[in-house]
Amino acid sequence: MAIYNYLEDLIQVKLHQVLSKKENACRCARCVDDMMAFAINGLPVISYSTSDGGIHREVQNLTNDSLKIEIATRCVRAVDLVSKNPRHKR
Ligand SMILES: [Zn+2]
Repeated sequence: MAIYNYLEDLIQVKLHQVLSKKENACRCARCVDDMMAFAINGLPVISYSTSDGGIHREVQNLTNDSLKIEIATRCVRAVDLVSKNPRHKR
């Protein structure tokens, strides 16, 4: 998966918080990847390369606080969606 830096970190941390409260949710690498993708998908992410050759991504038009709320909502939704429809046999 591509490097999302700060944004991906935020989502990853939040996703694991949500997962820790959802005992029935699958935590395999495949499902967690799907959840990450769902949570990131549709966010107005802009990326640009940094002087040291890395890629920096940030979300447009959201303050840090509203971004955190947005991410929390998206993580809950992503966990629900993926645990109801895992892309593998249970
Ligand atoms: Zn799974």
